[in-house]
Amino acid sequence: MLEETERAVVTARMDRAPLIIRRVDAIPVALPLKSPMKMAGITITKAENLLVRVEATGGQVGWGEAPSAPTMTGDTQGGLVASMRDHLAPLLVGKNAWPDNDHRPMLCRALVGNTGAHSAVEMALLDLAGRASGTRLVDVMTARPARRTVAPMWLLGNATPDEDIAEARAKQAEGYHFFKLKIGVKPLADDIATTFAVRVALSRTPLCADANCGLTLDAARRYLAETSDAKLLFVEQPLGAGDLAGLKMLARGTKTPIGMDESIHSLADIDAVKRAGAKGVSLKLIKLGGFREAFAAGRLCEKLGLKINVAAKIAETSIGSAAAVHLACAAPNVDWGVSLTHFYLAEDVVKRPLELCDGAVMLPQGPGLGVEVDEAAVAKFTVR
Ligand SMILES: [Mg+2]
Repeated sequence: MLEETERAVVTARMDRAPLIIRRVDAIPVALPLKSPMKMAGITITKAENLLVRVEATGGQVGWGEAPSAPTMTGDTQGGLVASMRDHLAPLLVGKNAWPDNDHRPMLCRALVGNTGAHSAVEMALLDLAGRASGTRLVDVMTARPARRTVAPMWLLGNATPDEDIAEARAKQAEGYHFFKLKIGVKPLADDIATTFAVRVALSRTPLCADANCGLTLDAARRYLAETSDAKLLFVEQPLGAGDLAGLKMLARGTKTPIGMDESIHSLADIDAVKRAGAKGVSLKLIKLGGFREAFAAGRLCEKLGLKINVAAKIAETSIGSAAAVHLACAAPNVDWGVSLTHFYLAEDVVKRPLELCDGAVMLPQGPGLGVEVDEAAVAKFTVR
């Protein structure tokens, strides 16, 4: 269902010449992180992502991105490239890219799953259409953006509480006022001790924890019980992605809100975790298969009374981060913060990476995603 503004934009485009897609390129890139990110199940040292470059016959270009996420969507970098190059790109060449032509049904019939690839190509098509029409992506999604800035949280996942506290203090000085602890990697007693140490050090700062499926039911119960005085805003994905029975038991016995991330791959999943007692969800474009679906998920969360965290995956460039900002500005009730991950990269592929200013990142004002891709930087980091 198109919103009012999208209908207006679409209607205005009816009289325009078609925006014909001339070529679609799948570009694998590898970018170094500033430092390794250790989380339950995986340690990430570099971002292995897919960039999608869509070019129209008039020379206009749009960009999309999806990170590999083997422990979240099952997408590997090779799989993302093959999905685009062999299955999705050939179907799009010669098609009209204006967004009233929703190519998702055709693309989803041709390639089931592979939500990262579907998200990257939809992002590139919307960026292209936005640039060609002078429209910000957020304005294609909604007549009433919920906000114009977002305040990103910073992830903490060091070996010791002292290192976490030192990093948090340094990031506070840069303007971060919201932190997330990665748990489920160390022994449980260490996770609990770290939670209290960081809580005491950041006494009035919103703090949450993310286990990335890394706890057993018993360990999750103990963590929630023993950290209840730490006043965590929420604990994310304590149990495995499919363990809704465990979630139900856990949610019944704790006052700390539980959010779900790896469990969410569709609107039906959002309904299911709500019924099992979750109080919020993390929306990522790669899990839902793109903007339209993620925005619909946001509206469903509003209807169900679920809080939202909008997140990019560790680590996306400013292309993926810009997309997350547009989603977070379009979606209602983003009460559980925003995770932007280009800040964790040593280098970016856009001319002016999104900046943190007074603790906030502004919605980019340019057309489409509002970031200018540096094609020389893309070439530098392309995996050959
Ligand atoms: Mg998470």
